[in-house]
Formats: sequence, C-alpha cells, structure tokens
Amino acid sequence: LTITVDGLAKLLGVPNDHMLRKMRFIGMNKLANDYLLSNEEAADIALTYGVVPVIPEESGPELYPRPAPDDMSKHPLRPPVITIMGHVDHGKTTLLDTLRSSSITAGEAGGITQHIGAFSVLMKGGQNITFLDTPGHAAFSAMRARGANATDIVVLVVAADDGVMPQTKEAIQHAQDAGVPIIVAINKCDKSGVDPSLIQEELLQHGIQTENMGGDVQAVEISALKGDGVDELAENIATLAEVLDLRAEVDIPAEASVIESQVEKGRGNTASVLVKRGMLKVGDIIAAGTTWCKVRSMADDRGKPVVSAGPATAVKIMGWKEIPQAGDLVLQAKTEAQVKDVIANRIAKRKKREQLDSIEAVNEKRREIHRPAVQPGTTDVSDSVEIPVIPIIVKGDVSGTVEAVVDALQKIPDQKIKTSIISTGVGPVTASDVDMAKTADKCAIIAFNSKADKKIQGLAKRSNVEIMSFRIIYKLLEDVESLLLSHLPPIT
Ligand code: GDP
Repeated sequence: LTITVDGLAKLLGVPNDHMLRKMRFIGMNKLANDYLLSNEEAADIALTYGVVPVIPEESGPELYPRPAPDDMSKHPLRPPVITIMGHVDHGKTTLLDTLRSSSITAGEAGGITQHIGAFSVLMKGGQNITFLDTPGHAAFSAMRARGANATDIVVLVVAADDGVMPQTKEAIQHAQDAGVPIIVAINKCDKSGVDPSLIQEELLQHGIQTENMGGDVQAVEISALKGDGVDELAENIATLAEVLDLRAEVDIPAEASVIESQVEKGRGNTASVLVKRGMLKVGDIIAAGTTWCKVRSMADDRGKPVVSAGPATAVKIMGWKEIPQAGDLVLQAKTEAQVKDVIANRIAKRKKREQLDSIEAVNEKRREIHRPAVQPGTTDVSDSVEIPVIPIIVKGDVSGTVEAVVDALQKIPDQKIKTSIISTGVGPVTASDVDMAKTADKCAIIAFNSKADKKIQGLAKRSNVEIMSFRIIYKLLEDVESLLLSHLPPIT
C-alpha cells in the first residue's frame, strides 16, 4: 500500500507545495509530486496536518474458511449438534450418561466410552445426533465468544422439583443470543409430588412458550435417572433437526472447531474437534489458533481409530505441535510450508497486538492519573497528586537477571512512581526495543548486564529514549528508583 506525494495532498485536501514544505520541514527528501511514500511516511505527514491515519494491518499468509455454497440443498444432510444446558443439579450429566449408554447398546459391543467432548447417538430410525458433553455454559460461551457457533439445538434441562433457576435463565439468554432453538426437557418427573405443567407456566414468564402454552417450543417430560422419556426427547431432537434441514458439504477440505485439548501421557498433544464441513483425514495438515498439526491419528468417541471424519462428528486428533484452545477454528492447509508461514504470521501479529495493547494500557493509565480528580461540586484540583507512570522495557543478559529486575521494579512503592513493564527480553538492546520505547510515551529501557552498541545508543538518543545500564544487582531497587525519578523528563 503506497501513495504518491500528489495523491496524499489530494487525500488531505491541502495544496501540494504546502505539503512539500512541511515534508522538508520534517526532514523528508522525497520532494517531488510523483514520489511514492511508504505507509510510515504518509502517516507522519498526515499527523502534521492533525489527521490521525489508520494504517491497515497487512494480513500476511492466512487461511480462510470457504464461502458458503449458493445452493445448500445439493449437499447431504448432517447430524444435528446438541448442547445440554440448565441449572446445576438439574440433571445434565445424568441425561448425557443415559443418552451415551443408550448409544453404546445401539452401537457395537465392547466399545469403551471416551470423553472427547462430544458423542454420537444412533437413533432407531437410523439418524445420528451429536451431543456436546461438556456440561455447563462455559464451553458454549467460550466457543461462541470465538465465533464458533457449533450448536444447532439447545436442550434446556429444568428439574421439575426446582423450576426455573438463575442458570436456567442464563441458558435461555445464551440460546436466544445465539439464535439457537430450544427443546425443554423437564427432568426428575419420576419424583413424587412434582407438577411438570407448573414448569411450563414458569418458563412462559421467561419467554419460553411451550406447545402446551400455545407456543412452538417442544417440552418433554423425562427422568434422566430412570430413562423415561429420553427416547421421546431424542425423537423430538431428530424431528426438529429435520425441520432445520441441516446440511454440509463433504467433498471439501475440512473446517472444524476445537472442543477441548490436553496433553496426554503417551499421546502427546491432543485436541478434540467437531467437524463443521468437509472431510478431515489422517495426514491432513491443519491449523488452529497459533498451532498446527499434521494429523497423525484420530479416534472417535469410543476410542476407536478412524481415518476420516465428516460434518457434525467429533474426533480426537493426535499430532499437534502445541495444544490449541477450545473454540479455535481449525482450517486445512495445502502444505507444511504453508501452514508454518500462516502460524508464524499469526504469532507475529499476536505479539504486535499485545505490544500495542500494553502500550495503549500504559498511555491510558497515564491519562487517568493526569486527569485532575475533581470532587463533586467543586472545581478545585490543587489536591490531586500526580504520580508518574513510567513504561519500562527490561533487557538482561540471562532470564534470571530479567526476572530480578522485574521483581525489583515491582517493589518500588507506588506512591513515588509507578512503573509498567511493557516488554522484557534476554539479549542486547535492539532497534525494535528503541522503536517500541518511542511509541510508548516517555518509556525507558533498563538494560541489566546487557549492552547497547553505539548504533543503538545513537538511535536511542535521536529517538529521545533513555537507556539505563546496570551491572550490579545489589541496590538495584534504589538505583532504579532514583534514576527513574531523576532522569525522566517531567511529565507535562
Ligand atoms: P447436573 O449438575 O445438571 O449435571 O446434574 P446431575 O446430573 O449431576 O444430577 C444432580 C442430581 O440429581 C444427582 O444426584 C442425580 O442423581 C439426580 N438426578 C438427575 N436426574 C434425575 C432424575 O431424573 N430423577 C431423579 N430422581 N434424580 C435425578
């Protein structure tokens, strides 16, 4: 992304020669109308006109999900994905267990259930239903927060003997926010003296209108413990899924969501994923967040090795370089070289974002501290004490000294000066340290047993960045404190 001198003048709405004069003034030498300016140069010029430029972040190597096909009806139906939600102790885990064991008897004998974050139930009619089995709302929210809306239907469990409780309301809210339809399972109906119809009335007050109450939300009376009504619940899910007409492409590279991940003895880094579209196969190269994997092997919810997994099925994947996070989007790359580029790019971007965030946090803190504390009803600001906040970059020869310096800095009493460590590192002070210090307002670099060469010292001087070098850890605390207080220019 570049712009000519001429183009920028037009964009800023200023006469060319005026801008050229300004450019000379700020020390630029590209003084002709057709010169190409870099992003940074254009930004510097814009700033002299009081225009704060937004430099678009270069995207770099990245993987993207495929656009949705125009005509979904050509693609095969897929199983629905269900999340069970509800208040604590209302029977979510019991219901999952009952569903799971019914699925094992339906499946092959001898399978041992493995918790991989989701399991499939084969219905008598031949349909499959996938249940996410991380009960609680945290997983659902985590996935949703990361844009992985993996759930098609929420089964809301409400205990007939307890009624609508705080987490019931929360679950309703989550489902509604996500636009996911609800099926109500009124549980513990085996208990004597309970009246399930009261639950339906109660739900009505919370925006859930069941069929009995004249609405379109299905409600099933069940006993998760005894198994009564659980088949009917599964049938209702299958019927609703049919109405939703859930389809997915199978003949494309896989796209999936990470459900959970862990380091396992003998297996290394593993992650369970829910395939959303396409076909995931052993040998595929996939990326998730800032890690990747050449799929070494996969196992289904019975621990059985599988070589491929299609839409709405969950598999545990072995072979990750590092474990990904729940909710991470899994996308397929063509080659190892490509996936490595993508991950390197993502890590670099994350680092940059973190740096910018910490710099912004420091600047915000400073603004807060320098904002006069006005008492209500008065405009007197004479009492407000100004405590400078100094952003600090710490460099040391080995990580132990870096930690010692960070420790020492954190022990400086807050009343005198506040420090905020925006970056630490092992090795000599580099140009990028100086650059970062320049970006953060009045930032200092503390170098412990770590040199800054002449070139860097010159750069720091020109950039108005203070590099403080230390060699003796003894008294470091006091030295740092007094140096900070004396050397830093007063804050205006
Ligand atoms: P969760 O916190 O929602 O996962 O609830 P649990 O599944 O752990 O169940 C909480 C308690 O309720 C346990 O003691 C279960 O045995 C009991 N429970 C669950 N479902 C039923 C049911 O249908 N009938 C009865 N009587 N008790 C149940």
